[in-house]
Amino acid sequence: MIKTILLKQHIGAPTTAVVKVGDSVKRGTLLAVPEKLGANVFSSVDGVVKDITEEAVVVEASPEQSDAFEPISGEDYLSLVKAAGIVGMGGAGFPTAVKLNIDLKGGYILVNAAECEPLLEHNMKQILEQPEKTIRGIHYAMKISNAAKAVIAIKKKHEKEINLLLERLADFPDITLHLLPDIYPMGEERAVVREVLGKLLPPTALPSEADAVVINVETCLRVAEAIEDKKPSFLKNITVGGKLKKGTESQVFMDVPVGTTVGELIEMAGGIDGEYGEIILGGPFTGSAVSLSTPITKTSGGILVTEPFPDLKGAKMGVLICACGGNMDRMEDLCKKYNAVLTDVQACKQATDVRGTLKCENPGNCPGQAQKILHFKNAGCTDILIGNCSDCTNTVMGSAPKMNLNVHHQTDHVLKTVGMEPMRYLTKSKTVEQLPLNEAGRQIPFPKEEVKETETGKKDFSFSTQLDDGLFHIRIEEGQDIHIEFS
Ligand code: SF4
Repeated sequence: MIKTILLKQHIGAPTTAVVKVGDSVKRGTLLAVPEKLGANVFSSVDGVVKDITEEAVVVEASPEQSDAFEPISGEDYLSLVKAAGIVGMGGAGFPTAVKLNIDLKGGYILVNAAECEPLLEHNMKQILEQPEKTIRGIHYAMKISNAAKAVIAIKKKHEKEINLLLERLADFPDITLHLLPDIYPMGEERAVVREVLGKLLPPTALPSEADAVVINVETCLRVAEAIEDKKPSFLKNITVGGKLKKGTESQVFMDVPVGTTVGELIEMAGGIDGEYGEIILGGPFTGSAVSLSTPITKTSGGILVTEPFPDLKGAKMGVLICACGGNMDRMEDLCKKYNAVLTDVQACKQATDVRGTLKCENPGNCPGQAQKILHFKNAGCTDILIGNCSDCTNTVMGSAPKMNLNVHHQTDHVLKTVGMEPMRYLTKSKTVEQLPLNEAGRQIPFPKEEVKETETGKKDFSFSTQLDDGLFHIRIEEGQDIHIEFS
């Protein structure tokens, strides 16, 4: 079996190979090093180097694979993170050692556990399976960057994960949770800063201007692995979903060797179910179409197989670009797949060009899209393809149907594949209630409320909450006495 391990799996320049064809390698053997901004690249399998190209080191894996790996060495936490070649695993790929090499002077580590793209589930599975190690990784990141506090930003809907974290954070009073609404985008770096710290940074600013570093939750786990186990970064957690023979429910594969192909992962998930539209590497918003032979990297997150595209038979398409959605190449590709004619292109007025990349001035807060929709109408469009956030999509729906424009969202074919409602109107609140505090000022789970029909057909309401010295429980059965228990 062949593993194609890319020399560029991060922001910055490609790394330079330090092995040669014919070399025997083990899991964790250093394959390539950065000469500029970048991160070390390691073999993810035991085997032999078969080829070295401008893009990749190709390793033929041995039939027998061991669980062992070649350990890294380093004198302190930061040098271990650097040696391990860890990069931002949420997709950005910024070298983590560079990010953490900062004196936050008592500021914040903000842990991005938003997992804000639909269908992706590997971050939540990690929290459920490895909460302690994830928390220790956050603790190490705080130590390296001299942060006094850390906040895990997680969507409020993930009740099980939140309660587990609260339980395991008992010994870490400086790490707390901030609950996020279930809208897109919540994982954008400046959106995390805004939601948690209440500071809206301009698109050109880094979180350090708010005395913070934003780090993905899987990256924290890999930091703990580097420091505690001396483990290099050559594995990735991946969600596979969509049009699969085993059903459309997302499946999560933990610790997949980097260089594994998209096709191999799809086979592990049961294989493609009949005809399909495209295979996306990434989430429905920020991913792009790939082939079965594309290898995964340290920044890959999702592999989604979609149903075939509807044929729009040459419809005149206006494209509305969002800074947090598909870029122009992606939207053009989708236009072709819809068999539509690209007629006009507009960008959301909050999408600002920062060094060749679009950044949103205030992610997820719509500035109003009616003007853009009118532009499409005047350009003769009959249909529009939008990549907008939840809030802006809602605004588009306020004007486009009135102008007889058919609306398509870039996520439509993905969400339809798995039976989810298309993104159109905002049905969820943009604000959420935060966790209650106990007398000691520590966060505690929300009280549980339950309303059931009893055997007699009467309503039965119960509510329980964990207090410092016991469980408080109240139950009211329709037409009966009120039961209050304290245990
Ligand atoms: S405001 Fe505009 S650029 Fe920002 S997230 Fe929404 S659609 Fe995208």
